[in-house]
Amino acid sequence: MQYDYLIVGAGFAGSVLAERLASQLGKRVLVIDKRGHIAGNAFDAKNEYGIRVHHYGPHLFHTNDHSIYDYLSQFTAWHPYEHRVRAKVGDLLVPMPVNRTTINMLFGTKFTREEEVEAFLAEEREDIPHIMNSEEFVLARAGRRLYDLLYRGYSTKHWGVEPRELSPLVCGRLPVRLDTDDRYFNDTFQVIPQQGYTALFMRMLDHPLIDVQLNSAFASLTGIPFDRLIYTGPIDEYFNWMHGRLPYRSLYFRYETFAEEFVQPVAQINYPNNHEFTRSIEFKHITGQQSAQTTVATEYPLDEGEPFYPVPSTESRHLYNLYHAEAEKLTSVYFTGRLATYKYLNMDQVVGQSLALFRKIARGDTR
Ligand SMILES: Cc1cc2nc3c(=O)[nH]c(=O)nc-3n(C[C@H](O)[C@H](O)[C@H](O)COP(=O)(O)OP(=O)(O)OC[C@H]3O[C@@H](n4cnc5c(N)ncnc54)[C@H](O)[C@@H]3O)c2cc1C
Repeated sequence: MQYDYLIVGAGFAGSVLAERLASQLGKRVLVIDKRGHIAGNAFDAKNEYGIRVHHYGPHLFHTNDHSIYDYLSQFTAWHPYEHRVRAKVGDLLVPMPVNRTTINMLFGTKFTREEEVEAFLAEEREDIPHIMNSEEFVLARAGRRLYDLLYRGYSTKHWGVEPRELSPLVCGRLPVRLDTDDRYFNDTFQVIPQQGYTALFMRMLDHPLIDVQLNSAFASLTGIPFDRLIYTGPIDEYFNWMHGRLPYRSLYFRYETFAEEFVQPVAQINYPNNHEFTRSIEFKHITGQQSAQTTVATEYPLDEGEPFYPVPSTESRHLYNLYHAEAEKLTSVYFTGRLATYKYLNMDQVVGQSLALFRKIARGDTR
């Protein structure tokens, strides 16, 4: 069978394009994935205790983009969920991102007004005129004490390098709040799919013009004719690492199930200090599932393993640019998604990127 498109990767990037090409342009599509399941890193499933867990870290959908929310709403109903995080400092569990409560708990203050918190932060902040990295970003925004207590250890464990070696954007994603709002995200839409992400993907890929082949790595695929290729795997792998390997951070997940309804006050506890692991996630807070048992995943950052996080450093950006230049030379091959564009993208951004690529393809506005 001749396919119009071969799509490598059944995550958000590949599945959105498969759905659009089949349903809007009548194209015949084959989606392959080297893993034994669809949904990419958003994959979730019930474990042996009947608790729905996310297999590659907690996936919290949040966006301000109405059109992305509406697009995905064709394939799922939603469960409203606002993420909350506490950081363990000594015996305290303090809200993260930093807010008024965090400061009162850590420094024994009793601030009740935003102006008091602002004045406190003004004293803490360091004057850094040209912010070059994540350490400087936090010092300029929150000062040394909060940096040491909450950011430095967490970020160093997570990325394997000190924040001073990372772009300002890495720690710059988190706000510092003057009020007591303890939600992790500010976005208009904060939801997760009611029946889980995998069910959303099943509906998205359920089209007579879409075939899905799992446990199939692109490099060992033979004898399948296709006109065009959409590649959502690691871009350095596509080019046989000709310029060297792009660095990625990975994670090991340790799962534990307890015979209690809940063991954490919120879904996520960060461990900025004193432990090898960075955070623990209790899934039932996220899914809203009812059960007398509860499952927690603890995350240990790794250098090797599944490529989860592109490392946002200047060197890796240069290396990516070499691969991007190779990609630009190709006709009939499109690179999209988190790994193929080597960018730290959330799910909504990946959906937006793939919808934008689809619009270009539909207009014939591609190489
Ligand atoms: C721990 C963690 C937590 C996250 N939490 C959030 C969150 O809370 N909110 C949020 O918005 N985003 C979150 N993300 C980001 C989210 O996972 C991504 O935005 C999204 O999954 C990217 O989709 P994708 O299709 O680009 O990549 P992926 O989901 O990684 O899919 C790529 C697929 O391609 C397959 N593949 C790769 N190479 C090949 C090959 N050579 N042959 C065949 N198949 C191949 C892979 O097996 C994979 O299934 C998180 C990511 C991680 C790692």
